[in-house]
Amino acid sequence: MARHAEIAGAGFAGLAAATALRQRGWTVRVHEKNDELRAFGAGIFIWDNGLRVLQAIGAYDAVLDGAFAAPGYDSRTNGETLVSQSINGPGEYRLLTMSRQHLYEAMLGAAQRSGAEILTGSEAIGADPRGELLMADGRRLKADLVIGADGVKSAVRDSLGLEVARRRYEDGIIRVLTDRATLKGGVWDHVIDFWRTGDRLLRILYTPSGPDLLYMAMLAPAADSQAAGVPVKPAPWIEAFPELEPVLTTLGDRGRYDVYETTKLDRWSAGRVAIVGDSAHAMPPTLAQGAGCAITNALGLAVALEEAATVEAALSLWEARERPLTDHTQRRAAEIAASRALASGMAWDDEGLRAARHIPTGTTPFATEPHQAAYS
Ligand SMILES: Cc1cc2nc3c(=O)[nH]c(=O)nc-3n(C[C@H](O)[C@H](O)[C@H](O)COP(=O)(O)OP(=O)(O)OC[C@H]3O[C@@H](n4cnc5c(N)ncnc54)[C@H](O)[C@@H]3O)c2cc1C
Repeated sequence: MARHAEIAGAGFAGLAAATALRQRGWTVRVHEKNDELRAFGAGIFIWDNGLRVLQAIGAYDAVLDGAFAAPGYDSRTNGETLVSQSINGPGEYRLLTMSRQHLYEAMLGAAQRSGAEILTGSEAIGADPRGELLMADGRRLKADLVIGADGVKSAVRDSLGLEVARRRYEDGIIRVLTDRATLKGGVWDHVIDFWRTGDRLLRILYTPSGPDLLYMAMLAPAADSQAAGVPVKPAPWIEAFPELEPVLTTLGDRGRYDVYETTKLDRWSAGRVAIVGDSAHAMPPTLAQGAGCAITNALGLAVALEEAATVEAALSLWEARERPLTDHTQRRAAEIAASRALASGMAWDDEGLRAARHIPTGTTPFATEPHQAAYS
């Protein structure tokens, strides 16, 4: 008889786990507490590792159709270009940028095609390590495997008595999607990391995310109430980054401000319950690897369950195999957040982006460079 999984959370981790388990013959039910299936936030970067996972779960073609592949990644501090790195060419880092909704719809489509059952307005409040998902309406849903993919504030994780180290940072980010206006072609097709240092620290990660779509992640310390405020007050931002005025004046009341929040667990599972994605390892977005690691670990979990004789053995195998790279990435992301090293012209290298160079469990390298087409 098919083994059955109950999953809390239809975010990127929950959808990836659901699809990967269905591909391996499991029956799967996903519970999303919101009344709608949609992504929150504005844009997202997906590096090589995440792209390979998307291919393995059947979401890659839909992601590619409408995502953006910038030919360069620049870093500009106080008006001076410190780094200009070529990306997305043969042998280089591969990075697609897109709206979160675009990624979400591609992953949701793959999960639905795989036959996963996905319920909205269905809230989990905890789990029993013997294999039950506990619901807000009082039901206890039995399963061979329960997955807590319910994000950084995970109720499933918090019900299990796992040791959680949490941290909030002094910086936060306003995320907005807007029209690229006149900023198109040439260097405006690059991802550009703009920094202003000195008396006031501000950053805009300028990210083309489609032919007409621009994602901006606007960093300001939480203590800077003027710059950290939403709706965005354009004046301090235009003063710091005058070249971005054509887009900074179009933002209206768009955007939300979130302070970085991270979590780290002593173990990723208890009995038959696995904790996957931000619920296990939220990290500062400095390496843009939170979702990449989340979906990598979701696929890795499904593969381990195929290999090991029992669920408990699979969870041990999974954590031993996947965790070192996630720990490294989380640690490196935290160091970069604390030191603000990106402002000093830090180039991407294989130490920082070890996760991007990794071939995730359950995936194979691309035979060609298929997403070249996305910007040609
Ligand atoms: C500013 C910022 C920028 C980022 N940029 C990037 C980037 O460019 N690239 C990248 O790879 N990562 C990035 N990340 C990280 C990325 O957003 C997360 O790692 C990713 O969203 C984690 O996915 P998840 O499915 O684990 O959690 P979530 O996306 O939080 O999904 C959790 C889901 O569970 C649902 N849920 C919550 N509680 C319950 C409950 N009790 N019962 C049922 N459902 C529940 C939620 O509604 C949600 O749908 C960024 C993060 C931040 C803060």
